[in-house]
Amino acid sequence: MAGEPQADCLFCKIVAGDVPATVVRETATTVAFRDINPQAPSHVLVIPRVHYPDAASLAEAEPETAADVLREAGAVAAQEKVADSGYRVIFNTGTGAGQTVFHAHAHVLGGRGLAWPPG
Ligand code: 5GP
Ligand code: ZN
Repeated sequence: MAGEPQADCLFCKIVAGDVPATVVRETATTVAFRDINPQAPSHVLVIPRVHYPDAASLAEAEPETAADVLREAGAVAAQEKVADSGYRVIFNTGTGAGQTVFHAHAHVLGGRGLAWPPG
């Protein structure tokens, strides 16, 4: 069924607690944890508990859960104290854009200057 946990998905394993992660926030529908290879002083991933391969397919199937991910991205930025200085929310989508984990996730990056346009 759409949204069901996938046995071969790293982020489903983090949701289940089978793979450890440094969790910074949790809600009924989302988990936020530190990226294992941070690209900024603050680099947190916000994921839905349900499995969809990317943000667009999550939004198509469960728009309220996609909104929860966005709301949590803002809450993470506030908790990490990067909301005032500015932060970036990124959904890499597709291998050509650097997506390596095919469970929808928002990168929340802050704590340094963020160039525009991004690479
Ligand atoms: P993507 O490249 O798909 O946009 O983002 C996947 C992110 O997951 C990468 O930034 C990568 O560093 C992070 N990542 C990969 N494996 C793990 C892990 O086991 N634990 C955590 N916390 N992050 C991971
Ligand atoms: Zn998954």
